[in-house]
Amino acid sequence: LLQLYAPLNFLGFVYREIKHSLADMEKMFKLLRQNAEVKDTPDARTLQASSAAIRFESVDFGYERNRQILRDVSFEIPAGKTLAVVGASGAGKSTLSRLLYRFYDVWQGRVTINGIDLRDMTQESLRAHIGIVPQDTVLFNDTIYYNIAYGKTGASREEVIEAARAAHIYDFIEKLPEGFDTMVGERGLKLSGGEKQRVAIARTILKNPPILIFDEATSALDSKTEKGIQAELKAISADRTTLIIAHRLSTIADADEIAVMEDGRIVERGRHLELLAQNGHYARLWALQQHEEPADHVA
Ligand code: ATP
Repeated sequence: LLQLYAPLNFLGFVYREIKHSLADMEKMFKLLRQNAEVKDTPDARTLQASSAAIRFESVDFGYERNRQILRDVSFEIPAGKTLAVVGASGAGKSTLSRLLYRFYDVWQGRVTINGIDLRDMTQESLRAHIGIVPQDTVLFNDTIYYNIAYGKTGASREEVIEAARAAHIYDFIEKLPEGFDTMVGERGLKLSGGEKQRVAIARTILKNPPILIFDEATSALDSKTEKGIQAELKAISADRTTLIIAHRLSTIADADEIAVMEDGRIVERGRHLELLAQNGHYARLWALQQHEEPADHVA
């Protein structure tokens, strides 16, 4: 039955994608093509972990054969800890999250969770362990309720409401004329960047994964929204292994560790104050952002 369930579930996903977001067809097929690049081995195991330690070991990677992006990247995020990655645009920060989600396989080295190579586990079980709050959340052309409930198959109404509350979007929804039944997406109510991120946070709360990837929005949110999102992020990342792709240094001053990337390499690692004291790459980024208004945008 389980063997039947996985493909059916996947077909259901594809069907929902087609039905609810024609506008995202291109994105979906891109996703399917990307999926085709990585394959489960016949003896791939099912990852089953309530806590997850992540390791990148001497990873080399490029999207195209003749253009290497990551060079000898190694780091570890102990279970429950947070690593924030900073660096200029194009340095390779988001590439790390794509490899962790296994959209692509590494050229050299390996990525492991609890010591297991990602290539030795099923993609489905890997992805069930990861929640992503992306830069720009795709909303389906459906109700805001559906858009949150999507985080967990079979979620109850109470769970959806609880997740909306925890993501601090409940009051906003309740004030809408049709509440949770309000249509959003391309053909419905347009949500702001901050509201969309809150929907993604609510989805993630429902999914309840041990690993969290937060790809911070490059576009500036107003500072009140920004502070709110940071507070919610802090709450949901508290005991999850978290990778933050940071575009603003203010987000990450209290991360357990910060990695600075330059041209596909990690050039510095440490905590905020340690890195400032080193007076190197991070200190330069920090000084730079002090002059930028109003969003302290690093990249
Ligand atoms: P930003 O801060 O602007 O989001 P980043 O540090 O996250 O940048 P990445 O998105 O990891 O950078 O991209 C690193 C490099 O890989 C860039 O030069 C980019 O052009 C290239 N790249 C990213 N995605 C692809 C892709 N799908 N195909 C080919 N090259 C890609």
